[in-house]
Amino acid sequence: MSCEKCGRDAPLRYVEFNQNVGLLVMRISSSAHGYYCKPCIHETFWTMQMINLTVGWWGIVSMIVTPAYVLTNFVHYIPALFMASKHPGPRSRPKAKKKAARRRRERVYETDAVDDPDDEEPPKRRRK
Ligand SMILES: [Zn+2]
Repeated sequence: MSCEKCGRDAPLRYVEFNQNVGLLVMRISSSAHGYYCKPCIHETFWTMQMINLTVGWWGIVSMIVTPAYVLTNFVHYIPALFMASKHPGPRSRPKAKKKAARRRRERVYETDAVDDPDDEEPPKRRRK
């Protein structure tokens, strides 16, 4: 199963985050829920939580609703902190392959460093 937000194959967790924007006499509320990977959980949580904390509580109803959203967002977020975080993907390589790649790079560097007498420019003639 892949993340419902980014589509990557990774360890997933079901989360629900709510956001409120208080506009004094009215409010705009939205939510995000689904099986998300750890990076998407972090991103969604912090985006929605910062909106809650800054513009969430402006209004009478919002002053009651927003603290509840902030708390429930934390309830969903805290267990996600203990999830495995690594994305198994083409970018992750076993250690042996990394070492071999490093050795190959070093070898290329060594051959580049060897002085080749044919490469040297001929000495410039002095003008009289
Ligand atoms: Zn994701």
